[in-house]
Formats: sequence, C-alpha cells, structure tokens
Amino acid sequence: MSAYEIAEKAINSTIDTMIRIIKGLPPVAQPEPKKGKWIFGFNNQYLEKYYYCSNCGCRKYTEDEPSDYFCPHCGADMWGGERE
Ligand SMILES: [Zn+2]
Repeated sequence: MSAYEIAEKAINSTIDTMIRIIKGLPPVAQPEPKKGKWIFGFNNQYLEKYYYCSNCGCRKYTEDEPSDYFCPHCGADMWGGERE
C-alpha cells in the first residue's frame, strides 16, 4: 500500500466518522415558542383576585385580565398571536 493509498484511506475513514457523527446528532430543533394563558384565580385567604400564567404559574394580582402579551416571568406568548 502506497503512502498515497494510506493517506486516502485515512481521509475516507475520517470523513465516514464525521458523517456518522453528524447523522447521529439530533436535528437542529426549532425553538418552540412558549405559549401560555392568563388564568383567573382567587385567593380565598386574602380575597384577592389574580391571574396566573398557565405556563409557569407566576401570579399577577389584578382585577382585570392582564393585557401583557408575554408573561413577564417565563416569556410565554400569552395571546398566541390571537389578539389584535
Ligand atoms: Zn409565565
């Protein structure tokens, strides 16, 4: 086997290994936009109304449904682009 053949074989096996590594990787994930909703809640102990994020559960004490498009805590899209 000539030096050239040895080099060629080494290069080919390196390429094969690289291809296998690349194929073994999970496909590049598209970041799934987090979605949430403001869900009404009521604190019986303090008689307070609040809305909480369905995604992370953070609360916002307010009488009316929060107008926030995104949860200030987890960044979830609270309206899913439904609100104009
Ligand atoms: Zn949240």
